[in-house]
Amino acid sequence: MPVINSVAAMKDEVASWRHELHQNPQTAYEEEYISAFIAKKLTEWKIPFKKGIAKTGIVATIEGQKTDSGKALALRADIDALDITEKTNLPYASKNKGKMHACGHDGHTSILLGTAKYLAAGRNFNGKVHLIFQPAEEGGAGAVKMIEEGLFRDFPADAVYGLHNWPWLETGKIATRKGPLMASSDEIEIVVKGKGGHAAMPHMTVDPIVAASHIVVALQSIVSRNLDPVDQGVVTIANFEAGTGAHNIIGDTAKLVGTVRAFKPETRAFIMKRIEEIASQVAGAFQAEACVTVSAGGYDPTVNTDNEVDIAVAAAADVVGAQNVIADIPPCMTAEDFGAYLTQRPGAFIFVGQGVPGDPQSRHNHGLHSPYYDFNDDLLPIGTSWFAKLVESHMPLEK
Ligand SMILES: [Zn+2]
Ligand SMILES: [Zn+2]
Repeated sequence: MPVINSVAAMKDEVASWRHELHQNPQTAYEEEYISAFIAKKLTEWKIPFKKGIAKTGIVATIEGQKTDSGKALALRADIDALDITEKTNLPYASKNKGKMHACGHDGHTSILLGTAKYLAAGRNFNGKVHLIFQPAEEGGAGAVKMIEEGLFRDFPADAVYGLHNWPWLETGKIATRKGPLMASSDEIEIVVKGKGGHAAMPHMTVDPIVAASHIVVALQSIVSRNLDPVDQGVVTIANFEAGTGAHNIIGDTAKLVGTVRAFKPETRAFIMKRIEEIASQVAGAFQAEACVTVSAGGYDPTVNTDNEVDIAVAAAADVVGAQNVIADIPPCMTAEDFGAYLTQRPGAFIFVGQGVPGDPQSRHNHGLHSPYYDFNDDLLPIGTSWFAKLVESHMPLEK
């Protein structure tokens, strides 16, 4: 595989960082261990950096042998783990009870550190590279927080790139697409207020369960009846909490909690508006009231820009061969807060295959966020080579 030779030679070293980080997972804005690890490595390699951006975030800057091109790129890794109890029994499994790097962000961080070491050793480019180590991707909107704290003001960049390991894609393949790659994500809560009472005297009550049930059913019509059939969206009520536990009491309230996904900002806003209308009017029809709240910290859709996808695809083809690059993978309804960067700068996000479909028993086939998930270290040189080639092709030393 034509990964960069010196990057391939670093694989064991990068994997050892990955395993150490895997053993020490922490979640949103508490990623002290990994943040200190990154700072230690950057110091060792004499790479200047600013820490404490969005609490545990770090941005490092590497200058090329020349900088007169005036160009600059931003490369991003996420550093946080999840509230999951690991069940892999790996020798380097999590030492922090109830916390696990089950989305492979330990791998992404190691890839970006490998990129830092490689780029700083050669500086074979004309311009600057900003390496973003971002906290709180898994809820917590770390990308937005870094932007609010001046990320692109203090570290101006022409474009921003990122990657995610993808268990549903074969190792050795890379996939992306122009336009929307991943959806927006918003958490909604609908509280339906009725009037409780004796279950055998329903006429004396306003039953919130009946009203909420009709709301759940009516919400299904947003995607099926209100949305343009060629557009895409999801409205899922994932939780329905009601009742007191007793079989003979009608409670006062019912609570619905769910998620909304869309690829376009206007679709996202339209779905929210319809949820409000349906919830309040259906509740009203049953003499109840509904209050809809949308949690702060929803994620923007991840919308790649065409030119940067072309650059990302060319760099990917250099690393894994053109036949292994899928440039038009269908978009997916999961969300990623990388989308926030793409509202500020052009850029591209890619999926790097980590599955082994030829071996159904392979640990690397477990999905993201599974307690059995196991990052595939074969990705480390692929991801590092891709980042490095982006830099060297966007900002070549020789014209
Ligand atoms: Zn995740
Ligand atoms: Zn992730």
